[in-house]
Amino acid sequence: MFDKILIANRGEIALRILRACKEMNISTVAVHSQVDRDLKHVRLADEAVCIGPNASSLSYLNIPAIISAMEITDSVAVHPGYGFLAENADFAEQVQKSGFTFIGPDADTIRLMGDKVSAIAAMKKAGVPTVPGSDGKLPESGERCLDIARDIGYPVMIKAAAGGGGRGMRVVHSEAALLNAISITKSEAAAAFGDSTVYMEKFLQNPRHVEIQVISDGQGNAIHLGDRDCSLQRRHQKVIEEAPAPGIPAAVRSQVLQACVQACIDIGYRGAGTFEFLYEDERFFFIEMNTRIQVEHPVTEMITGVDLIKEQIRVCGGEKLSLQQTDIVIRGHAFECRINAEDPKTFFPSPGKVDNFHTPGGLGVRVDSHLYSGYTVPPDYDSMVAKVITHGEDRATALARMRTALSELIVGGIKTNISLHEALVSDQKFIEGGVNIHYLEKKLGL
Ligand code: ADP
Repeated sequence: MFDKILIANRGEIALRILRACKEMNISTVAVHSQVDRDLKHVRLADEAVCIGPNASSLSYLNIPAIISAMEITDSVAVHPGYGFLAENADFAEQVQKSGFTFIGPDADTIRLMGDKVSAIAAMKKAGVPTVPGSDGKLPESGERCLDIARDIGYPVMIKAAAGGGGRGMRVVHSEAALLNAISITKSEAAAAFGDSTVYMEKFLQNPRHVEIQVISDGQGNAIHLGDRDCSLQRRHQKVIEEAPAPGIPAAVRSQVLQACVQACIDIGYRGAGTFEFLYEDERFFFIEMNTRIQVEHPVTEMITGVDLIKEQIRVCGGEKLSLQQTDIVIRGHAFECRINAEDPKTFFPSPGKVDNFHTPGGLGVRVDSHLYSGYTVPPDYDSMVAKVITHGEDRATALARMRTALSELIVGGIKTNISLHEALVSDQKFIEGGVNIHYLEKKLGL
């Protein structure tokens, strides 16, 4: 196993990775921007290297600075966490070329899945159900695009092959608007992603977001760790996640879980990964694969008892998957609330000094956070400052625990969205389970 891992991230996920490394007796190197020298994991790591100024582009996205930090500290592997360079194929390639290990799939797999057109084609081949669509990129001919849309049926969605972060897509309701929408999405995609390739999908009106966690060793062994429902979203940003996804018929679920495992084997996938689906009328439709650990991985850890980061490090270190599918037993239910430093009504970021931080506790309560009293949340990065996770023998118990946990949580000195979470976990429809991806925005009157 690795002697020393460099953690190329910040905040709660950097701390989460550090904790896993410590349990595995792996030395840790924290890299940080100037403003981040007081981050909790920087203090706890065996070594720390400042890699640049506050702007992410000059620090956490600075590939040469990170590779130099690996060289000077004799690190052997890098864990990218999520966001930043986690799905950057060029980074994975340069890490490999410099003689280090990237904790994730190889660069080619990241590229295959990073292009949504090639990802969908690979999934179709593996038998994973996809959204009815254009079967590849849209042709130049307007006539043919009109034919494709007619076959799919309106409304349709035009999506950029290189899109991400909820950008580069457009809904089209009628034939009259189609060609104009295609040309606008193409030029936006060229400007935002440097690739004007677009494709077309049926626009599903009221889907849920359900995703499947997998882990695979790239040596022919892959397992799934069940599903998660992340339908509670605002502007395509997840707010609350839960596992398992409620109300999915067993036969429908087992079929898609199997297909995801098969897809991992087919593409020779190595590492932890997530297949994201839209779920409507008891059917799953693949939209994309995330080739990294995700923010919401703890809900899966709570119901399976598997430490996903440790497993990810092991398989990327060349070990065979130690777990078999029969080892994965789903126990109970878990929720995660993402606590952001932001105004709960306007959603404006609220950085600043945390003068008081008290976390909830008790059976089935977990808090993943880099906050401490006296820490200053900088304005330069994502506003998520904590994840409150609860587990219970059933959904109602896990949710009751979340209500209690939120009532105990104190983050003083800055504004947070705790009150929004308190309203959501007491919302009747959410309590019933199975709300769709529009539910939160409708409730907020957006
Ligand atoms: P990104 O990589 O930008 O996150 P995704 O393909 O994952 O893009 O889509 C992001 C979100 O956009 C989905 O969670 C869903 O809310 C919406 N979306 C994407 N494709 C469709 C579709 N075919 N029908 C309805 N909504 C969609």
